[in-house]
Amino acid sequence: MGDDAFREECGVFGVYGSEEAAVHTALGLHALQHRGQEAAGIVSMEGAQFHSHRGIGHVGENFDAASGHLDRLIGRAAIGHNRYSTTGQSDLQNIQPFFAELSFGGFALAHNGNLTNAERLRQSLVETGSLMQGSTDTEVIIHLVARSHQPAPDLRLIDAMKQIEGAYALICLCPQGLIAMRDPHGIRPLCLGQIGEAYVVSSETCGLDIIGAEFIRDIAPGEMVVINGDGITSTQPLKTAPSRFCIFEYIYFSRPDSIVEGHHVYQARKHIGRELASESHIAADVIVPVPDSGVPAALGYAEASNIPFDFGIIRNHYVGRTFIQPTDAGRQAGVKMKHNANRHMVEGKRVVLVDDSIVRGTTSMKIANMMRQAGAEEVHLRIASPPTMHPCFYGVDTPDREKLIAAQMDVAEIAAHIGVDSLAFISLDGLYRALGERARDGTEPQFCDACFTGDYPIAHDAGKGVSVK
Ligand code: AMP
Repeated sequence: MGDDAFREECGVFGVYGSEEAAVHTALGLHALQHRGQEAAGIVSMEGAQFHSHRGIGHVGENFDAASGHLDRLIGRAAIGHNRYSTTGQSDLQNIQPFFAELSFGGFALAHNGNLTNAERLRQSLVETGSLMQGSTDTEVIIHLVARSHQPAPDLRLIDAMKQIEGAYALICLCPQGLIAMRDPHGIRPLCLGQIGEAYVVSSETCGLDIIGAEFIRDIAPGEMVVINGDGITSTQPLKTAPSRFCIFEYIYFSRPDSIVEGHHVYQARKHIGRELASESHIAADVIVPVPDSGVPAALGYAEASNIPFDFGIIRNHYVGRTFIQPTDAGRQAGVKMKHNANRHMVEGKRVVLVDDSIVRGTTSMKIANMMRQAGAEEVHLRIASPPTMHPCFYGVDTPDREKLIAAQMDVAEIAAHIGVDSLAFISLDGLYRALGERARDGTEPQFCDACFTGDYPIAHDAGKGVSVK
């Protein structure tokens, strides 16, 4: 089994009580496409009957009108999933939502996050007779639900989740209704909305907006919500834990028009840019975002520094996100295909490039070089996150520590390596300030910031050369 199967960031969406449940789900998944482009799937429920379609590729490729798949996904409830994974393991049996016929009837499950003790649980399940079909951690949940002796599906799911550690935003569909659940730390986002009589659950609010659903509230950390003909029931069945929402959702992952955990992502990114400017101001002629993810932070930086903002780099939108190319060679080519210098805006100028993060350093090196070739006089790089020094074990794809450039070099070395005149990252306290929180002064942090600090809120099995604090 490949290690990669345990590292994925995904999008989940579900509707209960609408004649157009599958269509709404396809639209919701389309809005959440940035969270995963490898595969998409929808399972619908009509009485006790379930229907599903899952396939490799984007939502639009799988659920276009011509395919007829949506017409076959009948029923007033549906759940869907966008899958993101890096290499291999993209077999059909790993595409969600998963579905199994259990003793109480059908059970479909869509998961965003990463279960940190899944490997151990999987081994003991296999040793005691479970037959696993795919290689993802999510399948473990289905087996635990199947084995539970509790009478009702929600109680069985609670039974299962009591054994599971890690980060999860889950949506299930079963004869009892639609069940949504978030891990006790609330690491991954999940929100609740309403359209007419129907309830909607989505990874981000942009999934509600696309169908015209009204945002009700975020599902709370550790909360289980059961939606059915009787309405909504909310419980807190798991042991409570300090809330540690993923800070990287604000920096990169969530869509800028979403509101997650009370913060408007676009505004948060602008604030981060402003804070970055106040921490690392430099005299320059133009602020240039690395599109698209660097744009809001660059706007904030330009506003705060009073230096004009311009699109000095143009992005080709017809290539996937840089990370998705599995090999280094593929990633290099992908980066070249993605950006081009807008020469007239940077020639003869002192340029400040603003990007959201540096992971391997591939993008920054290529963009810095591109600016010089386009005639920039000076190239300065400002990064809207602290150095990414530790891998994520909770569902954001990050490479092993050896490939994280900030884990291998200090800031001056990175600057020399990527070829910029100066480089600065926002400080961790600056980032917290930008998000309206008190500085991280050794007290319990408000976010999961393990990728910057190595302070992992949940122990994990994976051995990537990092110690668990
Ligand atoms: P790199 O070229 O490896 O340094 O990657 C940095 C770029 O990848 C940044 O410009 C980010 O926008 C983007 N990025 C950061 N984290 C992720 C992630 N988990 N998945 C996909 N892209 C990412």
